[in-house]
Amino acid sequence: MAFHGSSRPTVCGNIFPGSDATPNPTVPNAPAGTPRHPAEVPSPAEMEPDRPIGYGAFGVVWSVTDPRDGRKVALKKMPNVFQNLVSCKRVFRELRMLCFFKHDNVLSALDILQPPQIDCFEEIYVITELMQSDLHKVIVSPQPLTTDHIKVFLYQILRGLKYLHSAGILHRDIKPGNLLVNSNCLLKICDFGLARVEEPDPSRHMTQEVVTQYYRAPEVLMGCQHYTSSIDVWSVGCIFAELLGRRILFQAQSPIQQLDLITDLLGTPPLSAMASACEGARAHILRGTHKPPSLSVLYMLSDGATHEAVHLLCRMLVFDPAKRISGSDALSHPYLDEGRLRYHTCMCKCCYSVPSGRVYTRDFEPPADRPFSHNYEQSMHSVWQGKELIHRFITEHQQGKRVPLCINPQSAAFKTFIRSTAWHSSKVSRKEER
Ligand SMILES: [Zn+2]
Repeated sequence: MAFHGSSRPTVCGNIFPGSDATPNPTVPNAPAGTPRHPAEVPSPAEMEPDRPIGYGAFGVVWSVTDPRDGRKVALKKMPNVFQNLVSCKRVFRELRMLCFFKHDNVLSALDILQPPQIDCFEEIYVITELMQSDLHKVIVSPQPLTTDHIKVFLYQILRGLKYLHSAGILHRDIKPGNLLVNSNCLLKICDFGLARVEEPDPSRHMTQEVVTQYYRAPEVLMGCQHYTSSIDVWSVGCIFAELLGRRILFQAQSPIQQLDLITDLLGTPPLSAMASACEGARAHILRGTHKPPSLSVLYMLSDGATHEAVHLLCRMLVFDPAKRISGSDALSHPYLDEGRLRYHTCMCKCCYSVPSGRVYTRDFEPPADRPFSHNYEQSMHSVWQGKELIHRFITEHQQGKRVPLCINPQSAAFKTFIRSTAWHSSKVSRKEER
């Protein structure tokens, strides 16, 4: 069971510090564990971007080589950080989340590039693991997608989601493009640009500008002011159906049509399921003709749409979020037993083999060891204060770790990297204005 990474342009040139730059004797050649004098400040190792590999909700991702160990990693530039307090908070939240995550199915920060002096500090660069492809590319490719693939992918999506939700984090943009995969089918949830901490107070309003439309839960489409982690489970249901049918389940042109396609499948929801919907959305549903559910069409998605698969799918695609299955409960569904077995037999890092057989972990789907805290946001009242907090966070995060990394700004690749970042940022902000 293997996947090929999508074909990519060849990697350009020397990815070690610009060949014209003076070699840095303190860095990559020092053997691991070489004791360093405490007063000696290491010069940072320089790295160059080599090619773009993707675009998140906010920011561009490039492939780079870590000059300290020659390992290929992903470099994400977080742009426009200090434009205003909102972007400052958003980026700091994403940064702290990436440093908080410790789970094999959730992308985390391996390192953060050394920031310059605070007066020149404008951008943040984060290093994460480099993955070969994502589920969107896999779904639209001609590569075969067997039931075994679907089970092991869905298992890992839910395993990662259980971890996020147990930390009190809503992802809010689960879609195939945000599920990175490797050729060995390892999957990691990425892009936390829209993620936030769960809001326990139902009277507090939450933004509606979340989730790519095709994967957006009915309660968000209906304008509910408050929603929970079940919006992510809805998205996973849509992706499960997309993996089975290899086409987007609800591919609508507008949010209203999105809602219409959902009710075509699930039937007109009862009034109780629309209790917190906005008046306009409720009126739209009630104005239309009463629709019966037509869930049996899910059996026609593909041969893989067995009774078990459709049963689980129907538990995720529930209109009323209070009645929708949780990510954690979905993991107990028998459809995922084979995916769990496959994952822990040959893919995971939590179990291991001894001559007499496999030693399995005690908890196949571990929750987070503590909730993600966002209390630090309360002390962020201005952009300058935010800048100081972020600068201190990065500096403290790096203390006692490996030789710090920085970018070689003289390299031609870096200039292209900067240009593509600027180009994409303007595209994103235009989209946001609509
Ligand atoms: Zn395991």
